[in-house]
Amino acid sequence: MAVRTIRCGRCRYEFIVGGVPETTCPQCGARNRIPGAPEPAATTTATATAPGAPPEPEPEPEPGGPRWVVCPNCSYRFAVGDVERVACPLCSTEVAT
Ligand SMILES: [Zn+2]
Ligand SMILES: [Zn+2]
Repeated sequence: MAVRTIRCGRCRYEFIVGGVPETTCPQCGARNRIPGAPEPAATTTATATAPGAPPEPEPEPEPGGPRWVVCPNCSYRFAVGDVERVACPLCSTEVAT
């Protein structure tokens, strides 16, 4: 970038800058953005765990893990242990596992 003259935004002091996107006024020390200068490299947020991430998907049945049954009466889905029949926790209907 060519050397150019800018005017301080605070004290209006005019001075020469070159090749930098931002400079400090030699008169008053104020930081001045230089119009038309390329933006400094944006600080990219590399963190993957952003707040507000979508919730975890519904857990899928795993071999050896709890079995999932759906109540035929109220369609409530719940995990059951190693039993043949269980009562729905919502409507108490007997559900065969
Ligand atoms: Zn100044
Ligand atoms: Zn039910």
